[in-house]
Amino acid sequence: MKTIHEIHNAFDLGKSTPLELTQQFFNQIKASHHNAFITLCEARALNQAQILTDDLKLKYNGKVPRTEKPLYGIPLGIKDVLTMDGVRTTCASKMLENYIPPYTATAVIKLENAGAISLGKLNMDEFAMGSSNENSAFGPVIHPTHSDRVPGGSSGGSGTAVAANLCVAALGTDTGGSIRLPASFCGIVGMKPTYGRISRYGQIAFASSLDQIGPMTKTVEDAALLCEVMSGVDDKDSTTADVKVDSWFKTARDTKVENVKGLRVGVPQEYFIDGIDAEVKNAIEGMIQKLKAEGAEIIPVTLPHTQYAVATYYVIAVSEASSNLSRYDGVRFGVRPPEAMQARTLVDFYKKVRVNFGSEVKRRIILGTFALSSGYYDAYYRKAGQVRRLMRTDFENAFQKVDVMVSPVSPSTAFKLGEKSKDPLKMYLTDIFTIPASMAGLPAMSVPVAKDHQGLSIGMHLIAPRFNENVLIKAARIVELLAGDSK
Ligand code: GLN
Repeated sequence: MKTIHEIHNAFDLGKSTPLELTQQFFNQIKASHHNAFITLCEARALNQAQILTDDLKLKYNGKVPRTEKPLYGIPLGIKDVLTMDGVRTTCASKMLENYIPPYTATAVIKLENAGAISLGKLNMDEFAMGSSNENSAFGPVIHPTHSDRVPGGSSGGSGTAVAANLCVAALGTDTGGSIRLPASFCGIVGMKPTYGRISRYGQIAFASSLDQIGPMTKTVEDAALLCEVMSGVDDKDSTTADVKVDSWFKTARDTKVENVKGLRVGVPQEYFIDGIDAEVKNAIEGMIQKLKAEGAEIIPVTLPHTQYAVATYYVIAVSEASSNLSRYDGVRFGVRPPEAMQARTLVDFYKKVRVNFGSEVKRRIILGTFALSSGYYDAYYRKAGQVRRLMRTDFENAFQKVDVMVSPVSPSTAFKLGEKSKDPLKMYLTDIFTIPASMAGLPAMSVPVAKDHQGLSIGMHLIAPRFNENVLIKAARIVELLAGDSK
């Protein structure tokens, strides 16, 4: 398990080069059975790696320029919802099967400017809709260690690729939990920063008031570093916030277990409901006890509107999705199959184009179109917005008393392939603990803390106040240190 820091040390010592490392990852990817990647950009990546390898010797005297290029020669996987100039970007949909975008997402540009190498595009649920990565037009992704299980979704390709060592780190996106859930199922770290921290320019939209980009990594330190590199205001995305980005990497590096003294850790009572796996509950409670033993102040808090989170999310997310996905009409965006050219009416044309959506995407377009239709808007989307406001206020009140909150990421560990795919409601409930932080736009993380009796990972969920990634990373690092080898 190699972290960015370890890799840079190996480069410094001449034990590896960006080119060797990149080739090694391509070999591992090709030998793997996980279906984690949709498209590889081998020639592009090897070219980047060659330049970085030459520069390391000639320009930098064999020492990685860590300050100037903190991701020097680090091979990454990119979720296939982010555009890259000249590289096929499918969003795991037949609708975009052959789409080659003419521009690159800001987050990817920033990573590559910092020296990162993009290996390819990672599999995901179609248009990021799902919790198991079974909704991909390119087939499901397999869990990194248990081949009968799902990796979680929608960033399942990212979760598996990092855990199975097919890349050093990956980008995921999170609308209601899609970074944190697969991170938890796959036993890695996943971070969703505050809404507005990272530009979404080049991220194919699902639900715009919720969508966010974030890193999926092996350690908290790597997550902090990637987030720091990607954050900041971008004039191409008006929703980015002009808020100072601290050195989260330094925070992760400098945090010690003893820094937990006096940290006020909130435990939302509504997150410890019936129906959570006993092993998940015990693992989370065990970690809370460890935090307490080291000097954290454990404070029960209440988030009274949690019970409405999933229902409200599924009104907002599907409504925004139906609007965002209307652009795939076969004229402006989306494949136009030859049959569509035979269509005699506009409706017939649309029918022949939009069959290319998978069934979960269609379900959401239909629900969202209904929720937004005239006469229903006030009853659904508007009402959901009002409930969302109450949920935000719940968090604001609770954060008067605590610095961070902790909970399970999900009620269960990774479930079996096919186990929930026939029952959308059951599937939707896997995000019950991650959705509220998305609704409130708060920074949140998943950190592995334990394994269940089958060896499946259990993640702890941490939530911090808006724009306080610093305290989130500090707490996450402490949890990581306390988890030690039990994860
Ligand atoms: N599982 C949730 C959904 O299907 C969240 C997805 C996401 O965060 N992209 O909407």
